[in-house]
Amino acid sequence: MKFRNFKLVGYVIFGRGAFNQLDEILAPQRKGDAPMIFFVDHFFRDKPAFTGRLPLQVKDKIVFIDVTHEPKTSYVDQLRDELQAEFGQVSGIVGIGGGSTMDMAKAVSLMMTNPGSAADYQGWDLLKHPGVYKVGVPTLSGTGAEVSRTTVLTGPTKKLGLNSDFTPFDQIVLDPELVKDAPVNQRFYTAMDCYIHCVESLEGTYLNAFSRSYGEKALELCQEIFLKKPHWDDDADEKLMMASYAGGMSIAYSQVGVAHAVSYGLSYLLGTHHGVGNCIVFDKLEEFYPQGVLEFKEMVARHNITIPQHITKGLSDEQFNKMIDVSMGLAPLWENALGKDWQQQMSRERLRALYERL
Ligand code: NAD
Ligand code: ZN
Repeated sequence: MKFRNFKLVGYVIFGRGAFNQLDEILAPQRKGDAPMIFFVDHFFRDKPAFTGRLPLQVKDKIVFIDVTHEPKTSYVDQLRDELQAEFGQVSGIVGIGGGSTMDMAKAVSLMMTNPGSAADYQGWDLLKHPGVYKVGVPTLSGTGAEVSRTTVLTGPTKKLGLNSDFTPFDQIVLDPELVKDAPVNQRFYTAMDCYIHCVESLEGTYLNAFSRSYGEKALELCQEIFLKKPHWDDDADEKLMMASYAGGMSIAYSQVGVAHAVSYGLSYLLGTHHGVGNCIVFDKLEEFYPQGVLEFKEMVARHNITIPQHITKGLSDEQFNKMIDVSMGLAPLWENALGKDWQQQMSRERLRALYERL
C-alpha cells in the first residue's frame, strides 16, 4: 500500500474532571461478570484519595504497575498469565499512569488474546488478534502513548514495540487534573519527549501536511508553556496534555529521528528512562537540529532542570558496540532523519563519537 492507512483511538474524552465519567464509560463494555482490570502506576499505591475514585465493581482488580524499569516483555507475559489464571476472561484493561503504565495496559490487553510471549510480536503487524478492550488514562503528558499504534517493550534481544492496528486504545480519558502533581523534573523530561517528537517529525524527510499540522501545533504549545508562561498553572497542564496528543498524531504519519535512535541504545544498555534519555541525547544534537537544540537549552535553563552528563564514561568497547547495534537497527528513524542514504552519513565511528559525548 502506497499510503499508510492507520488506525486511530476509538473514543476520546477531554476535560478537567473527565475521569469522574469512567464508570459510565466502562459500563457498556462490561461482559457479564468478567472483571475490569485497572493497571495503576505504582506512584498511586499509597494514594487512597486517588484509588478510591476508581469505579470498582465486585470482581474488578487494581494491579499496581511497577515502572521502576520501563516495560519488559517478561513483565507483560507474567501479568497476562496471572490474569488468565485468576479470571480466565476479563472485560478490559484500563491503564492509568505515564507512558510505561499505558504501554503495559496496551501490551497485556493484546497478549490476553495472542498466544505465546510478547517478545514474539516485537515488530510491525505481527499480532493476529485484537486484544481485549483497553483504555488509556495519562497521568503524565508527553509520550503520545495515548494515541500511538505501538507499545514499547524491552525483550530478550531487542527494544522494539508491538506496532499494529490492534495496538491503539479503544478509549482514552484526558483529564488535566490527573497530571497536576507530577514532579517538576519528571514532568519536564516527559514533556520534552513531546517537544523532541515534534522537532524530529518536522525536520524529517517523511514529513507531509498531515504530520506538519499536528507537529507545528504541538511545538507551538510547548513553546508557549515552557518559554512564554511566567509560571506553571492549570492552563499549562491542559495545553501540555493536548501537545502530547498532537505530537503523537504527528509521528503517527511520520517518524522520530536521531534523538530517539540514539536514546534507544542508551535505554537498552543502561536502562536510561525514555524522557530523560531523550533529553541527554538531544542536548548534544546541535549538528542535526540546530534551532531545536538551542530552544531546548533555553527551556532547560528557564526551568532549572538538570540534564545528566557523562553517563557513558568508562563504558567498554563491547558496550558501545551494543548501543551502536541497537541504534543502527532502527533504520526508519535514521532514514527519516537523514534520508535514504543515511548509512553513508551515519557510520559506526560517527555514532560512537556521539555516544562518547553523552
Ligand atoms: P513513566 O510512565 O515511565 O513514569 C515516570 C515516573 O513518573 C514513574 O516513576 C512514575 O511512577 C511517575 N509518575 C507517573 N505519573 C505521575 C504523577 N501524576 N505524579 C507523580 N509521579 C508520576 O514516564 P513517561 O515519560 O510518561 O513514559 C515513558 C515510557 O513511555 C517509556 O517506557 C517509553 O518507552 C514509553 N513511550 C511509549 C510511546 C508509545 O508510543 N507507546 C511513546 C513514547 C514513549
Ligand atoms: Zn519518544
